[in-house]
Amino acid sequence: MKKKASLDVITIAVSKGRVFEESLSLLAALGITVPEEDLDGRKLLLSTSRPGVRLLIIRSRDVPTYVQYGVAELGIVGKDVLMEFNGDGIYEPVDLGIAKCRLMVAVAEDGTENRRRMRVATKYVRSTQRHFAQKGQQVELIKLYGSMELAPVLGLADCIVDLVATGNTLKANGLVPVEHISDISCRLIVNKAAMKIKSDTLKSLIEQFKQAVKK
Ligand code: AMP
Repeated sequence: MKKKASLDVITIAVSKGRVFEESLSLLAALGITVPEEDLDGRKLLLSTSRPGVRLLIIRSRDVPTYVQYGVAELGIVGKDVLMEFNGDGIYEPVDLGIAKCRLMVAVAEDGTENRRRMRVATKYVRSTQRHFAQKGQQVELIKLYGSMELAPVLGLADCIVDLVATGNTLKANGLVPVEHISDISCRLIVNKAAMKIKSDTLKSLIEQFKQAVKK
């Protein structure tokens, strides 16, 4: 019989930026820390204080892909990204309750809508399509990659679908939120096959995340 490795190496894919900052506090609650000198953003594969656990720092939209293909066993990523993800092979066992915000429809404060088919600018194409389809409203989608707030102001679109936390970005650009699509927070995701192969290690880590969230 094949001897089981004494230590399963676990790679956790984490998205850069705001999610990474908040993930570090959560990981610290599990006793997993990263050396200060590795936090300057250059190193993308970080070892941690826990032997056998390393972090992979990548773009948020790549996190589900790395976990789907098992390059990372675990991932920490926003629900907004998961709602756009079109793959399979992952479980989503824990709502980590970090990087909370809302996916919302926003319009220009002084805007008037006079197009027959409303134009919506967003990078959240799937979620936006689903939202307006559920309302039975036909819209024209314009895919943008950032600075969506400009689209209604400059007349590119009638509204946008974007993440809103404090609402300050909308306000600063003369926009107001008008419809709530979904509450968003970060989720822990896990590769389905790894869940079988590295079952004990992963179950224990998932349980530790659940306990840290409860605190
Ligand atoms: P705010 O001005 O606080 O409403 O934040 C809105 C801006 O921050 C928008 O550009 C959003 O795309 C971005 N944002 C807010 N919350 C998050 C989050 N949890 N994850 C990623 N981006 C976010």
